[in-house]
Amino acid sequence: MTLHRVLVAGASLAGLAAVEALRRGGCDAEITVVGEEHWLPYDRPPLSKDLLCSGPGEHPPYLREESAYSRLNVNWIIGRRCTSLDRLARTVTLDDGSKHSYDVLLIATGARARTLPELDGREGVHALRTYADLRRLHAGLTGVKSVAIVGGGFIGCEVASSLRQRGFDVTLVDMLPTLLAGPLGVKVGEFVTRLHREHGVRVMCGSAVVEYTGGQRIEMIRLADGHTIDADLVVLGLGAIPNTEWLTGSGIRIDDGVVCDPYGRTADPRIFAAGDVARVDAIPYGGPVRIEHWTNASLQGAAVGANMIAAPGHLRATVGLPYFWSEQYGSRLQYVGLHRRGDQVEIGASAIDDGVPLAVYHRDGIITAAASLGHPRLLQRLRLALGKPVETQCPSLIPVPW
Ligand SMILES: Cc1cc2nc3c(=O)[nH]c(=O)nc-3n(C[C@H](O)[C@H](O)[C@H](O)COP(=O)(O)OP(=O)(O)OC[C@H]3O[C@@H](n4cnc5c(N)ncnc54)[C@H](O)[C@@H]3O)c2cc1C
Repeated sequence: MTLHRVLVAGASLAGLAAVEALRRGGCDAEITVVGEEHWLPYDRPPLSKDLLCSGPGEHPPYLREESAYSRLNVNWIIGRRCTSLDRLARTVTLDDGSKHSYDVLLIATGARARTLPELDGREGVHALRTYADLRRLHAGLTGVKSVAIVGGGFIGCEVASSLRQRGFDVTLVDMLPTLLAGPLGVKVGEFVTRLHREHGVRVMCGSAVVEYTGGQRIEMIRLADGHTIDADLVVLGLGAIPNTEWLTGSGIRIDDGVVCDPYGRTADPRIFAAGDVARVDAIPYGGPVRIEHWTNASLQGAAVGANMIAAPGHLRATVGLPYFWSEQYGSRLQYVGLHRRGDQVEIGASAIDDGVPLAVYHRDGIITAAASLGHPRLLQRLRLALGKPVETQCPSLIPVPW
């Protein structure tokens, strides 16, 4: 297929990585990138970490030097939203009514923070997905003493860590038995829960929020087990929802994200998807998965960009070995591999990690995944241990308080 016009919906990490891969691969098509936010692609991880501690600057932390964006020779349409897709006409309509045609379209519209409709319009309620959210949250913290964070996933834990470091009274609530129980399992989650408690966070797990009370401004949260939490400000860390509404009626298959094959292709050969919005039939996962992590969005964007111009038979799988990181209280938490429900977990210090706290997940004696805390350069060794017998890699795990 000859490419004259490439259209990218979503100006963030996955979209940028795809454009860079296209240009690297020699693609000289006219490329247009449409982004709803008012910024060129920027980096989200610092929003809940350094920037929540220090406060936002004049602009978000860009992913590249300014000159790198212009070198890509892209028509950036920033501050505009794609509102619909017409596959027959091969056009995307934006919120100003303009229509943009494509030979190939990349859907990279990511995800947005899940909010609670019953709290719409109430004051003192925040979520954190965008730079604009960070600015609102930062401004909202003025005069605040106590913060309640609902949701003990990565964003909730990172916000708790950053706000604790700023001296706020922080309560972190989750209905699961521990923090991060979903991605890391309960056993590792217990250590993360302890880490937060050691830093002075009041952690309340195992009970759902049943009521937000107060007037226009929320003042108290009530849990199902009867506990109440007074809060001057509430941060919701309830996960993310893929931004697919603009594709309604287009015939693109949506099922918790844009459904695509291992190479990022939808059923329409001219339309691809990458990043947090894409639900990919992923080989390492043995089925469809939508991943919401930085490394995946970056690698998947690059792979899809390359696939758009690849010769037949040279397509690259867009999902690799799962990897993610988080930072809490100045320590880097890293995870690599893929554990499943029912895997065994050992937590301790071992030969492969120089005595650094480590969790090793294994099944039938074979290591399936590993996580470490506080050792940023450990990743390569963790990767190499995957698929090997646990007794040769970790002959004597010495239990340590994580
Ligand atoms: C606060 C925070 C901290 C994080 N920290 C980590 C971390 O430590 N480690 C880690 O692995 N991952 C982290 N992540 C996740 C990581 O940032 C995401 O996985 C990554 O940003 C996904 O990139 P993306 O390009 O797929 O989507 P996004 O970054 O969500 O970008 C999608 C873009 O598309 C735009 N858009 C949406 N709808 C439309 C439309 N209709 N028209 C035009 N534009 C549209 C959006 O406004 C957005 O700018 C963090 C995320 C957040 C929010």
